Amino acid sequence: MSQPSPEVYERGRGMDAHNEVMRDIRSENDQSYDPREPTRVWIDEDNTPDGVYQSLTIILNTGGCRWARAGGCTMCGYVAESVEGGSVSHDALMEQIQVCLDHEAEEADEQSGLIKIYTSGSFLDEREVPAETRRAIAETFADRDRIVVESLPDFVDREKVRDFTEQGLETDVAVGLETATDRVRHDCVNKYFDFADFEDACAEAREAGGGVKAYLLMKPPFLSEQEALEDMQSSVRRCGAVDGCHTVSMNPCNVQRYTMVDELFYEGGYRPPWLWSVAEVLRTTTDVDAIVVSDPVGHGSDRGAHNCGECDDRVQRAIKDFDLRQDPSVFEQVECECEFTWELVLEEEASYNMPLAR
Ligand code: SF4
Ligand SMILES: [Zn+2]
Repeated sequence: MSQPSPEVYERGRGMDAHNEVMRDIRSENDQSYDPREPTRVWIDEDNTPDGVYQSLTIILNTGGCRWARAGGCTMCGYVAESVEGGSVSHDALMEQIQVCLDHEAEEADEQSGLIKIYTSGSFLDEREVPAETRRAIAETFADRDRIVVESLPDFVDREKVRDFTEQGLETDVAVGLETATDRVRHDCVNKYFDFADFEDACAEAREAGGGVKAYLLMKPPFLSEQEALEDMQSSVRRCGAVDGCHTVSMNPCNVQRYTMVDELFYEGGYRPPWLWSVAEVLRTTTDVDAIVVSDPVGHGSDRGAHNCGECDDRVQRAIKDFDLRQDPSVFEQVECECEFTWELVLEEEASYNMPLAR
């Protein structure tokens, strides 16, 4: 029988191994994408510190995340949608923006007050979006009220954020923090930065008159339902306590193609969180001084947050309602027998028997 070496258990040594596996999994993807087309664009509604806005959400197709090239996060399949070869020109990026403006003109009666721009990586990384393009995009949307741009904390600096605030835009940087617990972020998500880096990014955004929206990931692989729930409750609290972080978007992990989570799921070793857990985090953190929202992607399906199949739509509606009103009483109105199963899972699921129920 082979003997495990103590090194395997040393903290912080897992990253190289994670990256190796992730590179392998991603190399199975051979699709390619048009650099003049955004990855996705849609119109929605969002709660902001200034109230609820109609929002235009843009997923720009850039060269993709630097970290993903090294291997990247265990749950992230977005990078599979990026343009191969690593960079998209200024002109192509501006064409993508035009496609989004045309989409908005066709689909909505009025202009959206809120613009949200995500990339499959970091909008503020100048290898993905050159400074020239960032400034041109800021000008394009100068007549809106608010803008959100996504970035890893390393690329957040006051000068870049100022490009937007100087246009009179309320500006937020969306940071994929995933969890406030460094050990979980490193070992379960395979993200390299620390909570302290997130705090620094908040301070940079504040210097430029902007704010931060923290994105949290509920139930990365290797955590039981109860561990995931507790990790989110404490993460929401720690984020809400950071100056400048006014919104927390806590999203359940969903199973995306070409990821480590997908491999685990396929082998029966991963179940996305229960919608009851999502509701529980929202319900128990209403005293936190931040807007806390959640948008479960693929809710009700095996690959997204789900309950028993009977109550998923009702619980999802309560969550969406909570997002806009921040009123925990919305959860009193939904019940289902599967709550008992969920409670049992919380009590009994452990790392050696996960997932306890499908
Ligand atoms: S989650 Fe973000 S940092 Fe991680 S690989 Fe995906 S795009 Fe990169
Ligand atoms: Zn149910």
